[in-house]
Amino acid sequence: MMSFDFVGKHAVVTGASRGIGEAIARQLDAAGARVALVARSADRLEAIAADLAHDPLVIPADLSEHSAVEHISTSVLDAFGGLDILINNAAVERNQPASKVTGEAIDETLFVNLRQTFMLCSAFAKPLFASRGSIVNVTSTAATGAGGTQGAYAASKGGLNTLTKNLANEWAPKGVRVNAVAPGLVDTEMWEPTFDKLGEDAVRERFVKSVPLGRWGTADEIADVACFLASDQATYVTGQVLRVDGGMTNL
Ligand code: NAP
Repeated sequence: MMSFDFVGKHAVVTGASRGIGEAIARQLDAAGARVALVARSADRLEAIAADLAHDPLVIPADLSEHSAVEHISTSVLDAFGGLDILINNAAVERNQPASKVTGEAIDETLFVNLRQTFMLCSAFAKPLFASRGSIVNVTSTAATGAGGTQGAYAASKGGLNTLTKNLANEWAPKGVRVNAVAPGLVDTEMWEPTFDKLGEDAVRERFVKSVPLGRWGTADEIADVACFLASDQATYVTGQVLRVDGGMTNL
């Protein structure tokens, strides 16, 4: 784990109830930040918060609902009075062959992964301008579109890469940096439906063949890079999508 200094900073992490979001929240807290943990699973958020050192805020919220954005921003600003770091990590992945995809799955995926991320950036614009803060979006190497059976997810992440670059330019004059981390294969619960469908060992072996480093990544390895991008070690970095994938997309 890298060490950064986030003492006195206020951060929001969406999708903080497990996996990569939990790792980012834990690392930000360990480096001194006060973190607002957002996800639907209130019990999990409370259990993680109980482990954190810097008076975390738990905000149960379902980003598939329009009202979640105002609920999150109001709760955060009431408690923190401002914001330095916004980590947009929550996402849904609903793999479906394109010939069978449903409009409902497309809508949910684009809504949660892209639309609500954009709305959260917008809702926190003023406090981020005031703090000359930083946004880190968690996208995916799937944004290249090379995977298959994940059209809506890939499109949402491609859109998020584009949004990252657009916002970086728009808000650079305000001193706000906007970057993304794009994980490759990371060992989290996101893979459980695929493991259940195709067999865990078979999936692990098949996918790892495409990784030059020869292994799956860990949530902490993604969190390291997200924290770097959010930190004062990256003050001249904006508009970047940093792939953290063991070389998988090193084409
Ligand atoms: P995960 O274990 O499935 O975690 C997803 C998180 O998003 C959970 O905390 C979940 O919390 C939250 N979430 C999902 N839907 C939500 C909703 N409607 N409202 C609020 N929160 C919601 O996945 P992960 O692997 O940690 O993924 C984190 C990020 O990394 C995602 O953006 C994902 O696309 C990206 N990524 C992961 C991989 C990988 O291999 N794991 C690869 C590339 C990119 P609740 O269920 O409690 O709401």
